[in-house]
Amino acid sequence: MSEGGRGNLGILREAVENIKIMDTHEHLPQEEDRIKELVDVFSTFLPHYASSDLVSAGMAEGELEEIRNPRLPLRTRWEKFAPYWEKIRNTGYARALEIALRDLYGIQELSLETCEEASRRMREANKKGLYRWILKEKSGIELSILDSERIDVDREFFAPVMRFDGFIALKEKWDLEILERHCNSPIHSLDELERALELEFLRLKDSIVGVKIALAYRRSLSFEKSTHEEAEKVFNRLYAQKVFRRIDAYGGRITKPEGLSFEEAKPLQDYMMHKVVALAAKHGLPIQIHTGLQEGNENLITNSNPVHLTNLFMEYKEAKFDLFHGSYPYIGELSVLAKNFPNVFVDMCWLHIISPTVARRALSEWLETVPGNKILAFGGDYRFVEGVYAHAKLARENVARVLQEKIEDGTFTEAQAVRLAVRLLRENALDLFFPRAGIRKG
Ligand SMILES: [Zn+2]
Repeated sequence: MSEGGRGNLGILREAVENIKIMDTHEHLPQEEDRIKELVDVFSTFLPHYASSDLVSAGMAEGELEEIRNPRLPLRTRWEKFAPYWEKIRNTGYARALEIALRDLYGIQELSLETCEEASRRMREANKKGLYRWILKEKSGIELSILDSERIDVDREFFAPVMRFDGFIALKEKWDLEILERHCNSPIHSLDELERALELEFLRLKDSIVGVKIALAYRRSLSFEKSTHEEAEKVFNRLYAQKVFRRIDAYGGRITKPEGLSFEEAKPLQDYMMHKVVALAAKHGLPIQIHTGLQEGNENLITNSNPVHLTNLFMEYKEAKFDLFHGSYPYIGELSVLAKNFPNVFVDMCWLHIISPTVARRALSEWLETVPGNKILAFGGDYRFVEGVYAHAKLARENVARVLQEKIEDGTFTEAQAVRLAVRLLRENALDLFFPRAGIRKG
């Protein structure tokens, strides 16, 4: 490579490093809650992701619980963890943990000694200012969209979305009772259920920046068009179900609803999903939908194929659909959907740690197929703040590498590449989730 080439690499990299990221998706606790936790390298870093790889590698769930327990001695936990750590060190999830440990806590490699030292340093940092240090200073993130079931979030760091899955995934009488308590109003008919949903939107619409749908964890994303009459029949059957209650030996209440099968419940669930989409569109709220790989172990990937959602894209043209996780492994399907439909957006949250290689390959493909205003290149999708740092670092590296390749093969000029990087990591998310704020450059 010529001197000029190296110079170019420097300019793009530097531009990407300096972008104040708009992070489309996190599950972080509020800082005041995080700093009350007992932190150590296992209980803090293994609530998800690497823990699922440990199970996939053969670890028993009971062992995982022991490793996560901050009250057990670190040495015992290390001894259980070490043989499996060796097995999962090749994955993206493990790599993210190593980046966080190295860059934030100065730990080069995990061992019995260093996991004790890392935990000591984590405890030392676990105080007010932790989020400013990691999210703002180290990660360069301006704001993170937070999926945490609450709206009273620290607005210095977060803007919330809210889930409406509880209004949709109705299968047992029990689900209606939970909703009644949540909405603080009786729900005795389909009309009352719809009214409660409308009121929930009115209550939340000015506090949230979007709607989150995580239903692909428990059902197919195929939502057919059912009529009010079909949905009402299912509602009335559900409402007539009996809920048996008794007190168990420990004083806890055991409830055993009769429940409907998924096939029986589907017309009502589908009907309510259409209502949620229509209301989100009416109130100008983008809809974040989980598609592709489900976190954890042993789920049905075919449930989460984004192609199932096509009828919703066609029917609700005024709605905006933010499809999560690059729909991995349905990368090509998402390319086609986002290319075809003006209301479908590609969201790469979680993707850079699932596989950095897939993230780069997919981004390269999307940059050739999907308009540059519809690709959102970063959402950390972590429950612990250290993970967000590592993920943001990988995301910046991937965006820079893909754009650099396209400069070198003559697809983009350097100026175009820098412009796109700002769109991918910042402006597209601002446009989609904060349209009224106008674009804030920087
Ligand atoms: Zn998530």
